[in-house]
Amino acid sequence: MTDILVVGAGPVGLTMAAELARYGVRVRLVDRAPHATETSKALVLWSRTLELMDRMGCTRSFLDAGLRAPGASIRSGGKVLGNPRFEDIASAYNFALMIPQRDTERLLTAHLRSLGVMVERQVDLTGFMEAPDGIEAHLRHADGREETIRTPWLIGCDGAHSTVRHGLGLAFEGSAQGDDWLLADVRLDGSGASPPDEIATYLHRDGPFVIFPIPGRRARVIATVGRTDAMHPRPDPTLGDVQALIDRRAGGGFRASDPVWLTHFRINEGKVTEYRHGRVFLAGDAAHIHSPAGGQGMNTGMQDAVNLAWKLAMVVRGQAHPSLLDSYSPERSAVGDMMPRNAGRLTDMATLSNPAAQAARNLALRFLLGLDAVRNRMAAQMSEIEVAYADSPLSRGPNSGARWDPEAYAGAPPGVGGEPRFLLYAADAARGTALTKRFPGLLEPIPRPPTDMRAASQCADRMLPGYAQVRGVQGTAASRPAPAAGNGRSPCVGRR
Ligand SMILES: Cc1cc2nc3c(=O)[nH]c(=O)nc-3n(C[C@H](O)[C@H](O)[C@H](O)COP(=O)(O)OP(=O)(O)OC[C@H]3O[C@@H](n4cnc5c(N)ncnc54)[C@H](O)[C@@H]3O)c2cc1C
Repeated sequence: MTDILVVGAGPVGLTMAAELARYGVRVRLVDRAPHATETSKALVLWSRTLELMDRMGCTRSFLDAGLRAPGASIRSGGKVLGNPRFEDIASAYNFALMIPQRDTERLLTAHLRSLGVMVERQVDLTGFMEAPDGIEAHLRHADGREETIRTPWLIGCDGAHSTVRHGLGLAFEGSAQGDDWLLADVRLDGSGASPPDEIATYLHRDGPFVIFPIPGRRARVIATVGRTDAMHPRPDPTLGDVQALIDRRAGGGFRASDPVWLTHFRINEGKVTEYRHGRVFLAGDAAHIHSPAGGQGMNTGMQDAVNLAWKLAMVVRGQAHPSLLDSYSPERSAVGDMMPRNAGRLTDMATLSNPAAQAARNLALRFLLGLDAVRNRMAAQMSEIEVAYADSPLSRGPNSGARWDPEAYAGAPPGVGGEPRFLLYAADAARGTALTKRFPGLLEPIPRPPTDMRAASQCADRMLPGYAQVRGVQGTAASRPAPAAGNGRSPCVGRR
């Protein structure tokens, strides 16, 4: 019983397996489908995901394959109400990277292969049960062969209809029947079209209409089109339907042509409360599904995987107490709660039907989106650099749980390489080195000087409890990865 079992080789399972493999943890990744997705599905990789890919060691191939969108627009008919720009966000990736999901999966699969792990295709998880010190999982192969394996940890990255979630007897809570969405991958031409590298959201009382740029001078159009019952699914949309939506919701002035994918889909939003049940974890769509309006479902799932992988690697390698794993669900479940709220606000704003309310909304948005602070906040929210874990059991003190600003890295991004260890920032190099020597399995051997003295001064108050808990890792407790620099007196530990 050695390999961790990851079920589902979508973007989330591929990220999970790759991160575990990077840390030298043995993993099996199985998927019931004969091949990876062939459609574009999720199109955006946001800044935070790209930053995490830096640690994974695979950003370059994504940057080469994708299209950089420097900003977004909020529109009403032909009018631009505001332009949140990504260029001003504090990230090396100050843009949204547009890349079809089939390419994301292809590149993640290649990255995983470079780490020595192959996806086992046409292998279906049919059931599982708790066993002493692990999970007994039942797999069925394409030729009908049944296999029973023991795994110390089972991770369900098996999508919206997750076998793992069903096996745990969990239902999505707060589940709501979503609208039907029209999806069209087309060419858009005409003077009224939004810029070809901009994510454009049109607010309309019938529902949101969003244009995402796609590499190759193409665009993805999505729009809500009301609800039908599952017994009477809509026929696939036509190019005429897409044009009618453009004319009605986007004020016309441009034409759709050359469709490569026309479909309807529905995402019934929902989320489980707990992402961990003993030795079983859920991540990605298996744990939460969102409206596609914000383009954040896949990013959130991939970030779940990164969050869980380093913790699990530290535990499996004996570098941290298993209670470290208790932080996964509260941290990521809070993020999962936030995403539908953001997408829901957009939909509520879009669908105001009263003309007076629409006029007031447009006026307010024009004013608000004229303010740098509001535009920047919106860009930070969309790019997910705002994701933070202030309420995590691992967080204490002011600013704790916040993302570590790349400008304060003072070297390579924390978390690169094959060891799941924390990075220590310490102005007092001698004390820092003494600490790293004391906890070699937990801390990178060489501490870094803090570059941000403001953060360093905030850190002073909380170092003592943080330090006490670092000591605890080798004894009984989990580590406290405080994401801030240290000052002259006290070193701090950077979150991975
Ligand atoms: C039409 C469409 C458009 C979308 N557009 C967007 C968008 O614009 N932006 C966005 O962020 N998101 C979008 N999404 C959602 C996005 O595709 C998902 O959030 C993303 O795929 C989730 O990744 P995942 O790895 O969690 O799950 P999935 O990609 O669903 O992967 C799950 C995998 O598990 C496998 N599996 C399932 N059960 C088993 C089992 N028992 N045994 C073995 N394998 C199993 C499946 O074969 C599958 O490969 C869209 C989805 C659809 C359908």
